Amino acid sequence: MSRFLLNNTKIICTIGPSSQSRKIIKDLILAGMRGARLNFSHGNYKHHQLLIDNIRQASKNLNMPCAVIQDLQGSKMRTGILREPVEISKGEEILLVKTGNEDKLLKKENFKIIPIQYNLSSGVQKGDTILIDDGLIELIASQVCRDYVKARVKNSGTISSNKGVNVPGREMRTPVITAKDKEDLQFGLKANVDAVALSFVESAEDIKYLKRLINQHKLKNQTKPLVIAKIEKQTGLKNIDEIIREADGIMVARGDLGLEIPAADVPVAQKEIINKCLVSYKPVIVATQMLDSMIRNPRPTRAEVSDVAGAVIDHADCLMLSGETAFGKYPVESCRTMADVISKVEKSPYDNIKDVLLEQRASDEEALAHAAWSLALEIKARAILATTISGKTARMIARFRPEAPIIVTCQDESIQRQLLLSWGIVPFILPKLKSVDKLISKAVGRAKKSNLIRKGDKIVIISGQPAGQAGTNLVKVHNV
Ligand code: PEP
Repeated sequence: MSRFLLNNTKIICTIGPSSQSRKIIKDLILAGMRGARLNFSHGNYKHHQLLIDNIRQASKNLNMPCAVIQDLQGSKMRTGILREPVEISKGEEILLVKTGNEDKLLKKENFKIIPIQYNLSSGVQKGDTILIDDGLIELIASQVCRDYVKARVKNSGTISSNKGVNVPGREMRTPVITAKDKEDLQFGLKANVDAVALSFVESAEDIKYLKRLINQHKLKNQTKPLVIAKIEKQTGLKNIDEIIREADGIMVARGDLGLEIPAADVPVAQKEIINKCLVSYKPVIVATQMLDSMIRNPRPTRAEVSDVAGAVIDHADCLMLSGETAFGKYPVESCRTMADVISKVEKSPYDNIKDVLLEQRASDEEALAHAAWSLALEIKARAILATTISGKTARMIARFRPEAPIIVTCQDESIQRQLLLSWGIVPFILPKLKSVDKLISKAVGRAKKSNLIRKGDKIVIISGQPAGQAGTNLVKVHNV
């Protein structure tokens, strides 16, 4: 089997201390990583640049592309810097204070003081639940003053620096794109990242704002990065239709989403978001805790395996590993395990799509993409070969989740990497050609060389004639 054909559902790995070396990144790509995520909640630019250089170099050495995704922290509230972790006990009261204002508080009262990188007093109300460190610590606000919030501890634990803080159900009036995000974005654009994910998106306006910032940056002959909206707030969920319309992709960020809404509501939200993305042919990523126990153990729990399988059956484009590959003990094993589960499920009939979702075909191009898919099914084509400039035609086909691989030729390395984030697409670069016959002959040659098709195979071709000038207007059967 071609090494380009490992899985249809793509794997994104978060790169961190456990996976930052070129050797591990190479092993991750061979194990199925098609996107590498850099979490800008942590690290400095020197380190991020090192990671990007290592990803690009490993990918070049293997001659296998890998997308780089910059994940902007957005309005995520976090604890500030603590000299040492603070132990808190059930029943005690502690003070939560905006970072920098710690000294203003009266020490004589002898409360433990936790700095927060946000003034909670502007949004929290007495009786609100405050969650720290992925909800491991639960507090109840007992008093809200101008400079601090006093809170009673519901369960004992330890609070350390830079841990996430959530106040479920409250609008905290935090700017969606912070000064830090703007600076991080400039860095990411200079480094030519392939996608930018924004945390805590609440509306289409947030995405429009991010796109305006990207447009203001002088991109030197660069393709604009995809903009991915992370859905992790109730408001983001409420406004999901307008967000999908505006964004280039969606991430179901289940970590924070499962704190901001009841965790029991997350599985249905996941299915609904994926269904909407399928209709709009926008890539959708399912993220967080997929193989969480593999941070510590070489084997996943059976429940985690079922979660990965469930996301494939739900038709996600990508599944994401976070701590498992960023700081876990078994980064490559985690990726291999995920790839193995994906491939088993994809061989079963349970990931096949029912056409009911996709009944409305608004444009001629959508109808042609549907025709290519159904033709491939009927003639049992070995592959569907699409030529694309922006990637749109390829994504229109991918949403039908065909059994045959979708081999895509494009002209731009960034578009090639961006297409790695869409289900089933195997993208290649071909130089610009004027004649569609020449383009098809080169594309077929490239697919044969990569062991994706063989002489005697029947394939379906979807393209545009004249090449590169018309939109998609041609579907045909081709005998290799
Ligand atoms: C999440 O909350 O699930 C998530 C992906 O966001 P982050 O890892 O940036 O907190």
